[in-house]
Parts: sequence; structure tokens; C-alpha cells
Amino acid sequence: MRELLERERALWAERTPGSERMFGRARGSLAAGVASSYQRLDPWPVYMTRGEGARVWDVDGNEYIDFHNGFSAMVQGHAHPAITAAVSARQPLGTHFGAPTEEAVVVAEELSRRFGLSRWRFTNSGTESVMHAIRVARAHTGRDGVVKIAGSYHGHADTTMVSVGPEPGAWGAGIPDAIVAQVRAVPFNDADAMAGALAEADPACVVMEAARTNAGIVLPEPGYLEAVRDATRATGTVLIFDEVKTGLTIAPGGAVERFGVRPDMVTLAKALGAGLPTGAIGMIEELAALVEDGRVHQVGTFNGNPLGMAAARANLLEVLTPAAYEHLERLGERMAAGVGAGAIALGSKGCVHRGAPDRERSELIWLWLANRGIFTTPGREQEWNVTVAHDEAA
Ligand code: PMP
Repeated sequence: MRELLERERALWAERTPGSERMFGRARGSLAAGVASSYQRLDPWPVYMTRGEGARVWDVDGNEYIDFHNGFSAMVQGHAHPAITAAVSARQPLGTHFGAPTEEAVVVAEELSRRFGLSRWRFTNSGTESVMHAIRVARAHTGRDGVVKIAGSYHGHADTTMVSVGPEPGAWGAGIPDAIVAQVRAVPFNDADAMAGALAEADPACVVMEAARTNAGIVLPEPGYLEAVRDATRATGTVLIFDEVKTGLTIAPGGAVERFGVRPDMVTLAKALGAGLPTGAIGMIEELAALVEDGRVHQVGTFNGNPLGMAAARANLLEVLTPAAYEHLERLGERMAAGVGAGAIALGSKGCVHRGAPDRERSELIWLWLANRGIFTTPGREQEWNVTVAHDEAA
């Protein structure tokens, strides 16, 4: 393992001198040389220049088939002609007014149709979507507590950073103890633990992914989501499905459609804006009433930004069609079958579970692939994302 790692690291250094130089320069002004700590990579980040379809190119001119896809956001592939046309048509007409435009109405109508939730609001990221959803739940119930799945990620707001990793404190510094005390984490696929937490903690909401996608991919066991739905309903707890990753990528109506359990709220981001920073919250009418009558302030300068909405409209109506979902499903299954034992596909997403997490082995696999022109998401599980632009060859 050590020997292989040394060899791949040396090859990587040889292939990416431009990224190394850019890193040296970037560190002088960008903290750690990156715009988000999730972009960090040892020994230096890979600085990209452009993307087209299923491929991306770095500053050294290396070409990669992209299975990272911007943390799974680019399910359309890069620079999709329909998205480019929509954004190019909107840009000269003005890109921001702080007043609503028709694009936002069209996108909300389409999301209502897909997810069966009648009221929508827009945000600029998954973090904002989840943060606002929790606030609505707290306002509705008059309670502060939040129950989540242990080790799950729902964005970088204070409340959701609690228990993002298995070890206490894995969520980093700067989260107030008072916030940590409000959050209770339970294991996934354990309906009894969920029911127990609801009874003991009396929380405002449960926030969860219907299928886990941030620690490999873990499907809900038969009956689990139904049991969570029953338990939340019985205790008057708001059920939020965080579909930042699953929404729009595993079925037209995300996990709600795929698993057939209706939450009270859904949060979206990532794939919605086709590469522009856009998020959304879907709500049942009873919860939307809090926003509609002004009790909850769901606000933001760029919410429903016309450029993002133009991209989202083209994305939903022209790119992510029923045929696109069939294509993603077919490619995903083919990837999983090709990888073999331990591989699992869920719509456009897939990953390989290889038992206990092993940092060195993960680094080796990432480097080996990158050195051979395959760009994947760095991390402990080998995750892939196929897109509309991938085909059987790439
Ligand atoms: N929820 C989930 C399930 C996510 O995977 C992420 C991002 N990885 C977020 C929320 C936060 O989204 P963003 O990074 O757009 O704030």
C-alpha cells in the first residue's frame, strides 16, 4: 500500500505542476488556497479551467472524465446547451431585481408537480434550505430540538453541523454548546431509536435524507420511512426530507417519489440550479402559512435570482426529462454492475462500500483514478455521479 501510494503521489506531482504553482499563489490571498474547505486536497487542490459534457480540464491541461460533478450538482453535465441558452438569454435582460419574476413561478409549479408539496420558496444553497426548513418547524411547533441521523450532513449552519461525524467534536470549532444541546442524533434504519428520541426529546423536527448519501449510499429498509412518518405524525413533529442530493437525481420527484413516503417539507439545492447557486424549500400548506402570514421570515437578497431560476427552468423542463432519468438509471446500474461486489447505484449516484473506512486506501484509489483521467469525489467512500452527458463509452 505504502509503495503504491508513493508511486501514485509522485505521478500526480508530475502531472499537476500548474496546480502546485496555483496553490502557492492562492495561499497568499485565499485561506488554504481554496474557496471552501471541502475543496482542499493533499498535497494541493486540483485547479480546474473548464468543463464540457462529461469532461473537465485542469490548469495543466489534463483531461478527466468527471464523476465528481461538483459534489453531484452537475447532473446535466457541464455547459449543457439548453442551460447555456437559458442563462445567455436571461443575462442581457438583467440578472437581479430583488422582485419576483415569472421564471420563479414556473420552477415552483414544476417542483409542486414533482414532489406533491404545494408551496415553495427559494434559497441560494442547501445549507440555507435546511436552515429555513428547521426554522419553520420550530415556529410551527414552538419547540427547539432537532433530531437527525448520526453522522449525517445537512449543510454548515450551526444546528446541522452537530453530529456530522462519528466522533464528538468532528463538526469543528465555533458551534455554541447551547446549539449542540438541542440536537439529538439517532442511527439510520432504526425505527425504535427514532421513536425513542421523539418521545424523550420532544423535538420540533426530524431532518434526514430518505436514503443516506453522505456516508456511502444506504437505502431505507422496508417499512423504516413509514415508521418514521407515523412516529413524527403521532408526536406532532415536522418531518423534513433533505433532498439536496437525492432530489432531482434519483427520480423526477426525488426520494419522495422513489420511496413513496410524503414528508412535511423537502429541501433542495445542488442539481436544481444546473451549476448556479440555487436552493428550494417545499412545504405543506399548513407550514407555508407561517411564511405566508409573515410569522416566519424566509428571506434573502438573491432568493429566486432570475439567472438561477432561468437555469432551473431549463434544467427541469428541457434537461431532466423522463428520458434523462431512464438514461441515468441505466448508466448507474451499468457502473454498479461493472464495479461488482460492494457497489450500489441509486439513480445518478453510486458508490463502493469496502468495509471499514481507510484513509490511505481511499487516497490511493482517488489518486490512481485521477492519474488515469478519472475525476471522482475525494472521500472515504468511492462515490460516483453519472450525468445526462455521460454515455456508455464515457
Ligand atoms: N444537505 C445535504 C444532504 C448535502 O449533501 C449538502 C451538501 N453536501 C447540504 C445539505 C448543504 O448544501 P450546500 O453545500 O449547498 O450548502
